[in-house]
Amino acid sequence: MLTEFSLIDKFFKKETQQNSETRLGIGDDCALLAIPNGYELAITTDTMVENVHFFADANPIQLGHKLLAVNLSDLAAMGAKPLAITLALTLPRIDEHWLSAFSQGLLTLAQRYNVDLIGGDTTKGALTLTVQAIGLVPNKQALKRSTAQVGDIIYMTGLLGDAGLGLKIKQGYECQSKNALMRFHEPMPRIEIGLALRNVASACVDISDGLVGDLSHILKQSNVGACLDFDKLPLSDDVKKYIEKTGDKFMPLIAGDDYELCFTVPPKLAHRVPENCTAIGIIEKESGLRLKKSGHIETFTAKGYEHFS
Ligand SMILES: [Mg+2]
Repeated sequence: MLTEFSLIDKFFKKETQQNSETRLGIGDDCALLAIPNGYELAITTDTMVENVHFFADANPIQLGHKLLAVNLSDLAAMGAKPLAITLALTLPRIDEHWLSAFSQGLLTLAQRYNVDLIGGDTTKGALTLTVQAIGLVPNKQALKRSTAQVGDIIYMTGLLGDAGLGLKIKQGYECQSKNALMRFHEPMPRIEIGLALRNVASACVDISDGLVGDLSHILKQSNVGACLDFDKLPLSDDVKKYIEKTGDKFMPLIAGDDYELCFTVPPKLAHRVPENCTAIGIIEKESGLRLKKSGHIETFTAKGYEHFS
């Protein structure tokens, strides 16, 4: 039986730290990070619980990837460059095969973004996975939720609703889309775009709980409203087919797990928005979220949506 120390050592300790800011990694009571002059730390944490956030039969490589991806997505949404993570694992038993696959998924993504794993803890109990991620952002350049302005254009990265479709497939919807399942199991954090949005976006969130829910955070905290143009939403052919077949046109708007960025940009900075981003709406003075579709305007409420005009 592996002890806690040997478990982290065996599966998660890396030979070299990748960032000069990492002064001390795994092995002491605390890790030590240097904060460069002119920077702030961006810190976030996300937990995934078996049977709540993932299925009991989930592939451990994909779980390791997704656990890190959802945390890095929050750093991306703030315009922060990933630096380091800590990892807390609650495991029902020590399964070396599972741990090896899980660490492979997590460390492969960590390496891609030069993220140092600087500490961790393991306990026994129902399978619960937690990462705390730490990033760097230049002073006062973090992308917040509270700073959208009336007249700003609303954009999003990538495509909307594919992860939601992946979940529908897991729940029994018949569709052959491997892409939708990949987007559900292995989201890619939009780190590069988050960095490119510093001094461009006026506000930003990542779409973890659904576009409507996450954009509503920007609207509430910025004290503004918005109108989304349904016909401009970037939907894959698979999602369009799903809507045709089921009539469930709001799935892409309310489904979570896409981990794309949704952000607002003043019109005069629109030329600096990176490629692969789509303008989907406009920030308005009137509070609430409206949806324009085929010339009609509908308004969303907490219960879903209702016809407005
Ligand atoms: Mg978030």
